[in-house]
Amino acid sequence: MTPDLAKAAFIALAVGWYVLRFPHVRRSARTPVARSARGPREMALLLVSLTGLGILPILYVASGFPELADYRFRPAQGWLGALCAAGSLVLFHLTHRALGRNWSVSLDVRQSHKLVTEGIYARVRHPMYSAFWLWAIAQALLLPNWIAGPAGLVGFGTLYALRVGREERLMIDAFGDAYRAYMASTSRLIPWR
Ligand code: SAH
Repeated sequence: MTPDLAKAAFIALAVGWYVLRFPHVRRSARTPVARSARGPREMALLLVSLTGLGILPILYVASGFPELADYRFRPAQGWLGALCAAGSLVLFHLTHRALGRNWSVSLDVRQSHKLVTEGIYARVRHPMYSAFWLWAIAQALLLPNWIAGPAGLVGFGTLYALRVGREERLMIDAFGDAYRAYMASTSRLIPWR
């Protein structure tokens, strides 16, 4: 693995994610929302996450900025990053397929929203966030730069920390005991039980 190949793997991850997501963005625009926890705070969190996972690393790949923060690339680190990127794309595919019309870029409950508790959602409540964590780890491994590499961990980590509890409260408001029971039998990100 060379530094250029590692950068190409990161771009492949970003493009692959966009291709998987785009049909859902179009479809969700046509599916009415019944209740929402959107607002300026959510929008700011999305922007922070986008900056860390997208804007900073793409700027780095395109221009080399900020060169001062570069460090020596190790091929093994690149291969591990490519593996995480592939795993992230597989998870994005499975989670988008399982959520279908219930997916939303922010915190929304749609009309005729169904609680998904099967397939990839059977043991983990937030597998799409697991996929974003894998993206952030892949980015940190693929880009040998102390700012562009870890930016995804910081950006998505901020969104995750400040969103996941609110999302679970929204789901409890919408689905009550069904979601409480689902919480009792699942973990948030990693299927450890
Ligand atoms: N946190 C989930 C989903 C992210 S998409 C994951 O990481 O996989 C965010 C939207 O998904 C939210 O608006 C919420 O309404 C919806 N959602 C979250 N968990 C869900 C579930 N188990 N079933 C149906 N919709 C869900």
